[in-house]
Amino acid sequence: MSNTSYTPKGPASQPGSRGGRDSAGERRRDAATIASLKAEVAAQAALIARQEVSLAHSRKIFDRASVAARLGVWECSLPGEQLHWTDVVYDLFDLPRGAALDRSEIIKCYPAESRKALDSLRSRAIVERSGFTLDAEITTFAGRSRWIRITATVECEDGVPVRIFGMKQDITEEKILSDRMRYLAEFDAMTGLANRARFQARLAHADEDRPLGALLLIDLDGFKAVNDTFGHVVGDECLKAAAERLAGGCGEADLVARVGGDEFAVLLGPHLDRGAVSGMARRIVEAMGSPVAVRGQSLRLGASVGIAFAGTDTPCDLFAQADTALYAAKAAGRNTFRIFKAEADVKGRSVAA
Ligand code: GH3
Ligand code: MG
Repeated sequence: MSNTSYTPKGPASQPGSRGGRDSAGERRRDAATIASLKAEVAAQAALIARQEVSLAHSRKIFDRASVAARLGVWECSLPGEQLHWTDVVYDLFDLPRGAALDRSEIIKCYPAESRKALDSLRSRAIVERSGFTLDAEITTFAGRSRWIRITATVECEDGVPVRIFGMKQDITEEKILSDRMRYLAEFDAMTGLANRARFQARLAHADEDRPLGALLLIDLDGFKAVNDTFGHVVGDECLKAAAERLAGGCGEADLVARVGGDEFAVLLGPHLDRGAVSGMARRIVEAMGSPVAVRGQSLRLGASVGIAFAGTDTPCDLFAQADTALYAAKAAGRNTFRIFKAEADVKGRSVAA
């Protein structure tokens, strides 16, 4: 039995006695305590209510931002492989929101190469308790092609990986834009040939692995007159036709480029001898000289060609030599080709057919 004494509080106590006064005091104190507790509970309830409103608002903002940024959140439990997606990820894969998720089916949306990369990144991240980022093209369940950026972080509890958590973002537009920019940095948008920058880079990086044999510079004859007579739109069509003929006739070329307004370049490897290169130049002149049908008009263009063979000279020299030969072909009456000769004439610039 406990030896703690207990004094009952309540109506049994005698009013006016010492015990009675204590009971009344205690009752007042209890009532005050209860009132203060009630006030505290009410204040906490109000705080929780305010926080719930704020949380709901934050969720709405997050959902809107996630939809606007096409940023979906995904989670995969470990080792159970239980997947959870937000609505954006369902939309991204063209799956009905909330549909059951089967990882073995979803992985089929990725091409084999991305599937392999994803598996190896995932395994390494789990071992290293780290994360990864991967851009991959997917074919959605509706058969659409999309580019997505996947980011992932492995989350641990007591040092044990328990889930992978991350984002999936639709980057299709960004990818198209960056591919286009990369293309425009190296190719001529009008003709689809390599541009001057790509040509110069190839010229500058010729080495033992990819040696140069010869450079042909081709410039259309009297092209200004085509523009002046028929307009720039017809002029553009002529440039496209010339580029097609050039690319079609130079299958063995290392690179065919548009290096200026009506100027083109053909880089050849060392596998062609002088006779073969001259034959190619002759065929180019013939091809450029045959009529082009543009917007109901039959136009005859014509082109001049300058050739320089690679020796011990720098790429810069090779270009200047081909340009000198081109100048000589123009001076010789156009619609022909000339080859730069290393043995300079008295003027220091020499070419011969
Ligand atoms: P030449 O026989 O000496 O080569 O003279 P040309 O009339 O062909 O003129 P030139 O090669 O000196 O100059 C090329 C002209 O090509 C200048 C310009 O009016 C025109 N041109 C340059 N870029 C473009 C283009 O993108 N489209 C069109 N339509 N014309 C262009
Ligand atoms: Mg010209």
